[in-house]
This record gives sequence, structure tokens and C-alpha cells, in this order.
Amino acid sequence: MKSFSLLAILITICLLNISNAAFSKGNPVLSDSNFIEQSDPSVAAEYCPVSGEKIEGSGVAFTYLDTKVKFCCEGCEKSFKKNPAKYLKSGVIDPVCGMSETNSDITSVNDGVKYYFCSESCKKKFEKDPSKVLEKYNN
Ligand SMILES: [Zn+2]
Ligand SMILES: [Zn+2]
Repeated sequence: MKSFSLLAILITICLLNISNAAFSKGNPVLSDSNFIEQSDPSVAAEYCPVSGEKIEGSGVAFTYLDTKVKFCCEGCEKSFKKNPAKYLKSGVIDPVCGMSETNSDITSVNDGVKYYFCSESCKKKFEKDPSKVLEKYNN
């Protein structure tokens, strides 16, 4: 009985060594990037474009066409989707032709998200098949 438990301990030690070795060999890049993300002071704090509050943790991420946006909470994400042009300082693009000159009176809401167009003809193209237009913005 005594020798059996000793053997069990030895096997456990061997297994632990193997898994430690596998871990340190397998994920050096991942652990490095994690380290940078958590401790690099040059990474600026992010602020919610809707509430203006500092985003703690990962926040709520949403990609509006070609622009990645982060919010402090889902409530702010909802407010943004209803009125993206109000919160995007860089402006909004027409998803059909890609122009940055959009008319705030020519809009369409798809899946709770508002889109802006340069002209009625782009809006018509969008409303004919929104998923096809938005497809090219989904990475
Ligand atoms: Zn919020
Ligand atoms: Zn257009």
C-alpha cells in the first residue's frame, strides 16, 4: 500500500511537469500580448462616446460599418444605434456608395441600427437588400 501511494505521487509529479512544459512551450505569444494589454501605460483610457464615462474592463463593442465603437454599457450601445451620426466624431459613411457626405434626412433603420445615405437612390438600393450591402462590412 505504501509503495502504491508513492508511485501515485511520482506519476502526479510527472504529469504536472509535462503539462507545465506544454503550457510554457505552447503559448508564449498569447501570454506576452496579455501582459502588454494589462500593464502598458501607453494604452489610453477609453471613454464611452454616448455617456462620456471611462470604460471599465472590456466594455460593450460594436462595429458600425467600418468603425469600431466601444460603450460602457448596453444601454449606451442602444442609444448609439438609434443615432450613430450624433456620436461618431469622424462622421458616418453611406454604406452603399461609401461616401462620407451623407444626408441626415435620408436614413434607414435595419436591425435596430440607423444608416445614412447620400441620396434617395442609395437608400433605395440599401432597402432592396440590406444584408447584401452590410455583408461587405462584416469581417
Ligand atoms: Zn453606458
Ligand atoms: Zn450614396
